[in-house]
Amino acid sequence: MSLIVHCKDVGFDCDGIVVAETEDDLLQQVAHHAQSLHGAETMTDEIIAKVKSVIRKE
Ligand SMILES: [Zn+2]
Repeated sequence: MSLIVHCKDVGFDCDGIVVAETEDDLLQQVAHHAQSLHGAETMTDEIIAKVKSVIRKE
């Protein structure tokens, strides 16, 4: 099973999808994606909570 986050579900206007096997890895990848593509400087607790709320499991 993979954990999947669609970037647009987090609130960005973006078709990006992040896939990982663990929640820690997923959050790291989302942080990297948000920082490199969306100029997000830090992952606030608010953003992390938002990401966790939109995780899909497939
Ligand atoms: Zn994105």
